[in-house]
Formats: sequence, C-alpha cells, structure tokens
Amino acid sequence: MRMTRRRLLKNASCAAASLAAAHAGSLEVVGAETSPADLLFKNGSVLTMEDSPAVVEALAVRGGRIQAAGALREVSRLAGARTRTIDLAGRSLTPGLIDAHSHPMAFGHMELHFILVRPPKVHNFETLGRTLAQAAAKLPKGEWVIARGFEDFDEGRFPFRQELDRYVPEHPLLAIQWSGQYGVCNTPALQKADLLRADAADPYGGKYLRDRRTNIPDGRLLHYPAIYSIHKNELDNAGQVEAIRWALDKFLACGVTCIHDNFATGPSARSYAMLDRMGRLPVRLRVYPYVPNLRICQELLQRMRRYEGDMARLSGVKLAVDGYALMYDVPPEHRELDMPMHPQDQFEAIVAAIHNAGLQVDVHAVGDKGVDWTLKAFAKAGGSAQAVRRMRHRIEHYPFLKADSIRNTADLGVPVCTQPTILHLRAESFLRRFGTKKLRQIETMVPLRTMTRAGVRVCFGADVPAFPTHLPLDSVRCAMERKTSKGRQLDTTESVPFLQALKMHTIESAYAAFDERELGTLTPGKLADMVVWNKDLRTVRTARDVGGLEVQTTYVGGKEAYTKKV
Ligand SMILES: [Zn+2]
Repeated sequence: MRMTRRRLLKNASCAAASLAAAHAGSLEVVGAETSPADLLFKNGSVLTMEDSPAVVEALAVRGGRIQAAGALREVSRLAGARTRTIDLAGRSLTPGLIDAHSHPMAFGHMELHFILVRPPKVHNFETLGRTLAQAAAKLPKGEWVIARGFEDFDEGRFPFRQELDRYVPEHPLLAIQWSGQYGVCNTPALQKADLLRADAADPYGGKYLRDRRTNIPDGRLLHYPAIYSIHKNELDNAGQVEAIRWALDKFLACGVTCIHDNFATGPSARSYAMLDRMGRLPVRLRVYPYVPNLRICQELLQRMRRYEGDMARLSGVKLAVDGYALMYDVPPEHRELDMPMHPQDQFEAIVAAIHNAGLQVDVHAVGDKGVDWTLKAFAKAGGSAQAVRRMRHRIEHYPFLKADSIRNTADLGVPVCTQPTILHLRAESFLRRFGTKKLRQIETMVPLRTMTRAGVRVCFGADVPAFPTHLPLDSVRCAMERKTSKGRQLDTTESVPFLQALKMHTIESAYAAFDERELGTLTPGKLADMVVWNKDLRTVRTARDVGGLEVQTTYVGGKEAYTKKV
C-alpha cells in the first residue's frame, strides 16, 4: 500500500475527530453507546498516561480500540453477553510500551547466530581468545567466526590481529564490540577481504587503524563501514523471519507493543513488510532505513516505496553523524577514535535530501559536537524552526548536557530518543576515556530533567543489540537510579520519577513517530495496545520497587499477544 502525505493527514484528522467525539461526554465512549464491549477491565488501577484523568477505574475495548475509560459504574454499562471481563484484582493496566529505538532483526540475528563474547565472561584478550578458539574448533577450517558483545578489555585497548591469530589462526575472524561501532579481526580475515596491504584505502565513514611502521591495517576497525568491509553476515529469508519472530516474542514478554527500528537494513525492512502483509507481525513496527552516504540516500529516496500496512510503517530515514561520540576538546590520545561519519557538508546534504523528500530525518548523534552538527543541519534543511518542527526530525542517543544545544533542540521541536541504561553500562568507560576533564558532563549524562524542563520531548529505546538489554524496565530503573556499573552515584537532579519514566516509554515514544493520535495513552478511540502488570504501579516509588514488577499479559489491538505462564 502506498502512503501519500495527503492520506496520512486524512487519517490523522479522522483519528482527531473520533478523539474529540470521545472526549465530548462524561462517559468516554466511541461509537454507539449500546454496542457491547469485547473486553472490560475492572477492579484495578488503569493508568492512562494522560495528564488528566491519570488513573481511572475501568476500561472497555471494542473492535481492537479503546471504547471507554472511566468510572466503573459508567464503563460497566457496556458489558454484554459476550463481553469478557478481566478482574485486575488490584493490579495495574497501562498502555503498551513503545521502544523508540531497537533493531529486532539484528537482535535475533545476533542472539541466535553470533558467538557472544560479553562481559563479565570476556574481559581480557585471554578470555576473548579462548572463547573464540572454542567456537572455531567446531567449524570447518576457513569458515568465518563471527562474534559480538565485548566491551573494554583489562589491557585498556583493543587487540591487534596478531594477538587474535594466536587463538584463531585458521579461520577468518571478526568480533564486533557491543555498540557495533568498533570491530577487531585477525590476519586471515584481512587477507580474505584483500586488505592486508599498506595501500588499502579507508572506506567512506570508517577507518582501519594501522601499524605505524608498515601502514598495514592492524585488525582494529572503526565504525560500521570498516566492519562491514571485512564481512557482512547475512541471513536467508527463513533466517530473517526466525530472527524477527524470536526478537518480537522477547519484546512482547516485557510489555512492548511497538518498536521503532532506526537502523533498518534493506533485507530487514522487506521482511517486516512481508510479515505484515501475511498478518504475522505481532508487534507494531516503525521503520527507518539507514543510509551510509549521500549516493545511497539518493538512490533509496528514488526507489523507496512508502509502505504503510496494518502493523508496520515506513517512518523516515536514518543516518549517523558520529559513531561513538564526536566531542569538543577531546584529549589528543583519544582523537584516533573520534571521527565524524561524514564531512560536515556531506552530512548536511544527506539531511537536506531526506527533508526535501518530505520524510522525517532521524540522526544518531552521541557526542556534544555531533548533536550541534545535527541541529545545524536540521535548521539549514528546514529553513525555519517551524519547518523543522513540522517534520519532527529526531535525534537518537544525545547523552550529554550542553545548555545551548538543549535550548536549540527545544526551539526546533526535535524529539530525543535516549538510553538511560548508558549510565549503568557506559559511564565508567567514558570516565576512563575522558577522565576528570569531562567529569561534570559525565555526571549529568542523560539529562532528562534539564531536557524536559527546556521543553524537549524525550523518549526511551533499549537499542538492542547495540546495548545488551532489551528490557524497558531497565531503562526506567536507570532513569530513576542513575548509578554506574561500579555503583557510583551520578547527578540525581537529572533523575525522573517512575511514572514520568513510563510516559517516556509510552506517549513520548509515540510522539517521536507521529503516533500520538493512535498509541501511547489509554484514551478512547486509540488502539487497544495494553499491559497488565503484577502489581498496582502507583505503589512504585524507588528503583528497587521496579525490580519487583512483571508483565502478566500484553495486548496488541485488543488481542492477547503474550500471557505469562504460571
Ligand atoms: Zn541503534
């Protein structure tokens, strides 16, 4: 199905009309009042994620949408002979969670097919090497060994190819850091890719780190283009479907009913659309294909079909300004890892091309300098703050506080999708890398309060498999607690309370993909994507309380998509 801008707007205005009708009466009912509900939830707290009413007693669902939400006495009138009543018994019902940044197919691909080399098991060259050697021993000589998940090593650097050859001498080997930004490979891998030579040119947007004496690549790879030039591990169609379904089941089990895949490859975008057409997508997907350079962006914009199906939709186009963190004032010893993905003029040209095609631009920007480049490119492409606001161009990650950038982000109406788990998982590594020079910036990382106070709309995404956890409650807990992996307390003035964090995983995530009229709150007229929890969420005060929460049932479009086995 082709989606035109006019049709999008028409759909949006229909939804707006039905919502307005729904709010008109005291009992919020869509359609004829006499139509009996399919489902009726009662005897618990229904947390709407609206500002008012924030909590109601009961909720009715009909035809996959929320029919009514309000006082039990009123909603009960919708019960008919075929209505299934669900006794919440004091537990809570919330909207389905929306993960605004994850990569389901890549997640399934990695977990099902890669050799996992994660900490704490893998923490130095010895533990990495032994894990890889064991995996290689099971494969015929010459076959690729592909691993992912390592973090920092005790040695304080990444291994050179010769150090990997010691463990895996007869198989080409590629191991990717968990962020996906760095890789290491052995000598057979470089040979196979015809890169074991001093004149091997760096790919656009990537870099081969080299032996200083010979200038031959030393096996350390910077950014996706360099990593993929060594080897691109791809699944066949059946493998893609298996990986997607595996990942989506994991998400449903933790209450996620919609995911924004903002690094969709061609094969994953096609597989999502195919599964959608076959009625086999159990989770809603908002797809942002990734473009590595201007040429590929222009080609994509020319041939891309604007897909909109029942469950999946093409939402925009994604690119990256940096890989890890393009920062101002980087200590000289770290500059080797600190490179932009594009020359600034090329980056601006890609942003403008996507904007001019009438699509939402989605940019990965980690460093403070990367964020500023991005805001500048948005402003240039739009020509006015109003034009940027209308397109809702968004930034992914954006972990560092810089007051003028945040003001600018609010002025341009740019939604930010961030990962609070970075505090637990990466803050210590940033501290090691930048030391005391950027201490304040690291302590205030993920500045949720400063951003929201400035008027920036902030949402959450787990970013699996670049991050090792897909659980939304991990993001929520980290946003409340703000502790590093070593238990160091970061600035608590940036922490947000539980319910605000849940909003960032529901209505704010919906907003980032233009879904706020259909998803994100339990409002009559919206799609009935919902979660039943094991407790009354109003009792959750601390990060520790979050540990006791469990999803019991996940509904998508009013249908049970996951139920916890007892
Ligand atoms: Zn990502």
